[in-house]
Amino acid sequence: MDSSRAARTAVVVGAGIAGLTAATALARGGWQVEIVEISPAEATSGWGLCLTGPSLRALAELRLADSCLTAGLGMATVTHVDASGDVVDRVQLPRLIGARQPAMAGIARPVLHRILYAEAERCGVVVHRGLTVLAVEQAESARATAETSEPVRVRLSDGTVRQAGLIVGADGIGSSARTLLGLDASVDYHGQMVWRALLPRPPWATGIHHFAGQTNTAGLVPISGNLAYVFLTENGVDQSFLPDAGLAQRLQQLLEPFPGRVEELRSLLTGSDSVVRRPVRTTFLEGPWHRGSGVVIGDAAHAPAPQMASGAALAIEDGLVLAEELGRHESVGEGLEAFTVRRRQRCRTVVETSVAIAGLEQAQRHHDAYALVDACHQQMAEPA
Ligand SMILES: Cc1cc2nc3c(=O)[nH]c(=O)nc-3n(C[C@H](O)[C@H](O)[C@H](O)COP(=O)(O)OP(=O)(O)OC[C@H]3O[C@@H](n4cnc5c(N)ncnc54)[C@H](O)[C@@H]3O)c2cc1C
Repeated sequence: MDSSRAARTAVVVGAGIAGLTAATALARGGWQVEIVEISPAEATSGWGLCLTGPSLRALAELRLADSCLTAGLGMATVTHVDASGDVVDRVQLPRLIGARQPAMAGIARPVLHRILYAEAERCGVVVHRGLTVLAVEQAESARATAETSEPVRVRLSDGTVRQAGLIVGADGIGSSARTLLGLDASVDYHGQMVWRALLPRPPWATGIHHFAGQTNTAGLVPISGNLAYVFLTENGVDQSFLPDAGLAQRLQQLLEPFPGRVEELRSLLTGSDSVVRRPVRTTFLEGPWHRGSGVVIGDAAHAPAPQMASGAALAIEDGLVLAEELGRHESVGEGLEAFTVRRRQRCRTVVETSVAIAGLEQAQRHHDAYALVDACHQQMAEPA
């Protein structure tokens, strides 16, 4: 036995969606959990998020779906518009949390984080901001592990040390915890930059809209009664930095070739200082996701491209499955192995599908991309 069930102290690295939900699920399972988060301020990266059916279902399991639906905006349809501005399809997504409930929701990222953070704290999780992990030492030998139920020694950036039964790397696609655990992965760039900007919600925006363009794709996701975000996926570009000051003007230019409703969105964008631009990058750990009493979850283990809008679902499901498998197994090592076995194929499918969609978008094969997205959403509707 590598560490006994009595070992109930966990250090989680990263207070993103994966870290906060895993910490909550572990705390409810009896673990004492501390999170170390490198950012000194509340996470606000990206302006909005689409919570698909599996995200809502996982949040419902954490009893947080109602708060998210109240703070965000529930939706049921995705409308596909072609390059001439004509509606070509309207897809109804499966309603996974009840026939009378929305199929998905748009929500502002800071709002979602506040909900997840408040619940973690309510469950007794301690979050340390402005802190990271510098070193992880694991008691590898049988003798050493028999002597301690907390075989992981974690050295933090404030000079303090934690002795824990479990370390969870939930620090995103560029994970340092992954490297410290010796679980290296490659991160791939796919020749696309994703743009997002906040707008006042037009009254017709009650679901997601996708607009196919001649070169790029765009879309709109409502995130509350008053707000929506416009997104644009720019194809065939190098990973480069643009200063914030020029972002709004450049996004306006990129949206210019789109007809119809996108013209209205451009006019709403005037003066927006809320534009973000991010590279489309993915990773998937082909090798083990755990070593000793350490494991990586969320984007640190499997980061899909944003086109599937499923990274949050995978991250929240990870936390739930991790707590469940650790509660079910006598040793942490067995629990982590069971977690990986349960999660690997589902996460691989989403990452690989998202990469395929990025390729289809760049080849202007929008119909094939939509079909692939729909098929993957159907697969994701199956329980985690
Ligand atoms: C542009 C874009 C749009 C997206 N849109 C959607 C969408 O609509 N729907 C959806 O489901 N998914 C979407 N995704 C994916 C989704 O955002 C991610 O899958 C999800 O945020 C993963 O959560 P995470 O907690 O694993 O990682 P992250 O959200 O990256 O959180 C990691 C946390 O760890 C912290 N951290 C990093 N390094 C360290 C360190 N060394 N020490 C301590 N802390 C550290 C970070 O500050 C952060 O708080 C999108 C992604 C992008 C890039």
